[in-house]
Amino acid sequence: TTPLLAGTGLRKTYGATPALVDATICVRAGEVLAVMGPSGSGKSTLLHCLAGIVAPDAGRIVYDGRELTAMSDRERSALRRREFGFVFQFGQLVPELTCLENVALPLRLDGLKRREAERRAAGWLDRLEVADVADKRPGEVSGGQGQRVAVARALVHQPRVVFADEPTGALDSLNGERVMRLLTRATREAGAAVVLVTHETRVAAYSDREIVVRDGTSHDAELVA
Ligand code: ADP
Ligand code: ADP
Repeated sequence: TTPLLAGTGLRKTYGATPALVDATICVRAGEVLAVMGPSGSGKSTLLHCLAGIVAPDAGRIVYDGRELTAMSDRERSALRRREFGFVFQFGQLVPELTCLENVALPLRLDGLKRREAERRAAGWLDRLEVADVADKRPGEVSGGQGQRVAVARALVHQPRVVFADEPTGALDSLNGERVMRLLTRATREAGAAVVLVTHETRVAAYSDREIVVRDGTSHDAELVA
């Protein structure tokens, strides 16, 4: 079957630095795909290209039958807002808002009424086992709790793909494992695919499949040309 998201022959150079040389990757609906490789190999650049945040210098990215590289900036950002969710290493929550308001924010931006947005947000906090921090601000919760709130926020609008770049990178191993367990459980229940960038085998162990990026190059055996 056709993958939900596929990037082929991706190339990206920053000044004189080749970040991606020839990267090929595909993501199937609902799968958890780990993108592994040493630091500086191009993993984050690959994620940013696939998510439509960075434009590759060459190559094609097709999401659900639509070519990302051929869309206008406006179309791409609308697609990101509606169909993609993001979890980063840290610092993604708005410090002035409570955790509940943070999770409700994507729905509020989508025009949902506060009451309904917060009702759904509360459901996701509960699923990520952080219902107790709903009324706290991000500065008042632990790193692991903050990441679970971030996962709730990434899922609240029911995206089809969640992009997670070293989501446990700032956590100790116990909290990292808990975040990964809850992230993969919640995304599986929601039917969302996950593109998980990590350099840790222990984190990649939560995936269904792994691809490796080396010196800006990756091959994906699942991708039938
Ligand atoms: P990884 O995620 O595997 O650590 P990155 O994709 O972050 O790799 O980086 C790949 C290469 O591209 C590195 O040499 C990095 O320094 C460079 N690079 C990444 N982003 C930028 C940028 N915005 N400007 C300049 N160089 C960059
Ligand atoms: P409702 O039951 O009215 O949908 P909930 O608060 O239970 O309200 O759910 C909020 C949102 O999360 C809804 O859009 C729902 O489809 C979704 N949802 C509910 N339960 C789950 C679950 N276990 N896994 C993934 N998504 C769920």
